[in-house]
Amino acid sequence: MIGGSHIAVVGLGRNGLPAAERLVALGATVGVWDDNPAHRVAAGLPLHDPALGYAGFDALVLSPGIPHNLPAPHPAANAARAAGIPILSDAEFLYRAVRATGSHARFVGITGTNGKSTTTALIAHILTLAGIPNAAGGNLGPAALALPMLGDDGVYVLEMSSYMLERLDTLRFDIALLLNLSPDHLDRHGSMDGYIGAKRHVFDHAAPVRIVGTDDPWSAKIARDIATHAISGSTPLDDAPALPGAHNAQNAAAASAAATALGVSTKVIARGLRTFPGLPHRQQRVATQDGVTFINDSKATNADSTARALACNDRVIWIAGGVAKAGGIDSLRDLLPRVAHAVLIGQDAPLLARTLREAGIPITVSGTMEAAVPAARSLAHDLHAPVVLLSPACASFDQFSGFEARGERFMQLVTA
Ligand code: ADP
Repeated sequence: MIGGSHIAVVGLGRNGLPAAERLVALGATVGVWDDNPAHRVAAGLPLHDPALGYAGFDALVLSPGIPHNLPAPHPAANAARAAGIPILSDAEFLYRAVRATGSHARFVGITGTNGKSTTTALIAHILTLAGIPNAAGGNLGPAALALPMLGDDGVYVLEMSSYMLERLDTLRFDIALLLNLSPDHLDRHGSMDGYIGAKRHVFDHAAPVRIVGTDDPWSAKIARDIATHAISGSTPLDDAPALPGAHNAQNAAAASAAATALGVSTKVIARGLRTFPGLPHRQQRVATQDGVTFINDSKATNADSTARALACNDRVIWIAGGVAKAGGIDSLRDLLPRVAHAVLIGQDAPLLARTLREAGIPITVSGTMEAAVPAARSLAHDLHAPVVLLSPACASFDQFSGFEARGERFMQLVTA
């Protein structure tokens, strides 16, 4: 039940704020908090400082970005534990709200280290083509509690981060997907085992359809234990322009298995793969000018993601740089021969330059995106390279508010 309950909401960002507003609309009373006073004021909702404790509250909704355990629990999490109330994700409340209307809408949960957003958007695209009412969101896109109510024929497609998965209670996915696992967020899960444990929650309550990737050793083991559909992305797709590379073949295989389980015909699924527009900032084709194609892969904030983009292109002018992750671009060595010339931006350009020089790749240090795009354009013409690829292998925070702003700027400069 939500109506009549008293719920604490901590973290008033893109998840917490719509969650608090929706909970009120559903008849709950809330006490909200954010460590940033400006966010507290902007919310315009009754405030409750976690330092006062949570006596009289029924649950705490904690934003996914706020830890309840490692590396250190937020005071609100400690207060919830002291009061004996559960810490829940907004997805749990969406499920409760939907079921409270009597709707049997189905729930699809998608998790994995990489490819969650692509697979979520792809499943939603296929369902829309099939005429099945659907609402997609969660970790990315609209927050779970910003999604509309759907009737019995509806399908929720929820992208689930490991943090959201740790904060579920009654939510039972009809179809659960685990795409892949690689070491990530270990600071918040303590160890690979802790991270895998969190991801496995997607299969809690024995989801009847369990789709699991087999392309990494950790997921392959889970697939052997529990998958009803084991999927692999070993062969890239020919006829899906917005789904290049083996990594996207994995996303496509997972989405196809989910759509099949939801009753969509093979024909519609094939059409969905073909017509999927792709997501912005993920190997997004921006324009082709005088035979040079500009690709925006700003979402690639680490070397691993950039490896996928380089693997899809034989010869590129590569724009990279920003705030490098540990190890820089050392892991890209085998792919660097695909780079005809590198154009570097951002604070860690010198670090990237070192690796590139060792590999004998020519570089230009442009510093800013404004300088990098025209430099890359003329290099592409001079060197007859067919592609200018922005795939930074770095975070963007030294120069941009996030990877979206970085990608937008690149696209503006390309089309200007
Ligand atoms: P997420 O939502 O899990 O971060 P996205 O769909 O936004 O994943 O993709 C982010 C990046 O991860 C892509 O740009 C691509 O480089 C890489 N990627 C996408 N799908 C996969 C996959 N199945 N396996 C490995 N890497 C992937």
